[in-house]
Amino acid sequence: MKQESSKKRVNVRRTEIMEMVEKEITGHYQSDLVDSIRKRDGVLTLPRTEFILAREFGFCNGVRRAIDIAYAARRVFPGARLFLIGEIIHNPEVNAQLDSMGVIRLPWKKISAEYDTLGEDDVVIVPAFGVPLEFMDELESKGVTIVDTTCGDVMKVWKRVKSYADRGITSIIHGKSTHEETRATASRAMGSGGNGKYLIIYTLEDAKQLVDCISGKISPEEFMSRMDGLFSVGFDAKSDLKSIGIANQTTMLKSETKQIQEMLKAAMEERDGSADNFHVFDTICGATQDRQDALFKLLERKVDMILVVGGYNSSNTTHLVEISKEHVPTYFIEQAGYIQDITKIKTYDTDEKKVKIVDAIPALADISRRLKVGITAGASCPGNLIEDTICHIARLRGDVIPALEELR
Ligand code: SF4
Repeated sequence: MKQESSKKRVNVRRTEIMEMVEKEITGHYQSDLVDSIRKRDGVLTLPRTEFILAREFGFCNGVRRAIDIAYAARRVFPGARLFLIGEIIHNPEVNAQLDSMGVIRLPWKKISAEYDTLGEDDVVIVPAFGVPLEFMDELESKGVTIVDTTCGDVMKVWKRVKSYADRGITSIIHGKSTHEETRATASRAMGSGGNGKYLIIYTLEDAKQLVDCISGKISPEEFMSRMDGLFSVGFDAKSDLKSIGIANQTTMLKSETKQIQEMLKAAMEERDGSADNFHVFDTICGATQDRQDALFKLLERKVDMILVVGGYNSSNTTHLVEISKEHVPTYFIEQAGYIQDITKIKTYDTDEKKVKIVDAIPALADISRRLKVGITAGASCPGNLIEDTICHIARLRGDVIPALEELR
């Protein structure tokens, strides 16, 4: 397998193009109301409701860059067939905007018959999570123009797992095996020679199984049967756990990642008498970390409820929900309309992994006291969706949002 595609990437972020793109993106996603609230220390106090925004939420630089590039590609290649592998980021609003601009989605799980139709006149956007190397090889073989929006933080993880492979270290990828980013990272963990090894773990239970295998509590065969499908071709737990190196999907939960690192380090030390064969490099990106830290700060403000706004398939958003729901009633919504009325909210249950309509806390309907509503959003959520959410709740509770001039 080849390493990164050698095809020259096109720079679509030209000054004259970006001026137009900036206007479009501002028109689609920016919120003056949210910007004004941010300037007021993140607090909007109305007679019946106080909204408190997390200090860090919404679009990260990597997401914003990916959207910029996708919009720019549409302008640079106005007449070309413009494709996108999967979703540009995990937010339905943003993906729907690209659909409406004539961007055609290609499957991301496997290279299917749609890829056979691609040719030299076509342009294909690679999403912010990146794609596995075989997809890049396929695009190159078709001679398409590649517009690559892969985030630099994701590429740092690739660099790390490649270096593990080149040093004979098996990569332990802490991530969701079905997530685009983890699939892309796994393909890089094969290293320059294509014979690197990797194993994907997602939960603490997966990590415990690995610890049990390292410490001999379960046999390598038993371990491999339990983790079937989560390791590279040729991986053998008997010989490939001598030296291991951890790398994370960039959007994991910091506390869980730390716990997994400690569990594995302790198991290796116990087995070998030292941690020489244990390698770790924290690859959670700064944007994910900042949003998790900001949420902990928001929780200190003693809010009555928290709304987490974002795509249900967004990993970093899901982790915000997991943190928040341990402390305060939390609702995970993709858009304002999911607050159906003052008593019912459509939310995604991260334990049951399904969308449910649940009773809202009674205080949402009680306008006799001022309700404190905390709001945060994942790195892929645009500001306009936060504004919609604030306005919707204010309307339901009979509050009126002041004119922007009054907020400045
Ligand atoms: S969440 Fe992190 S890895 Fe993902 S696009 Fe943003 S900065 Fe990059």
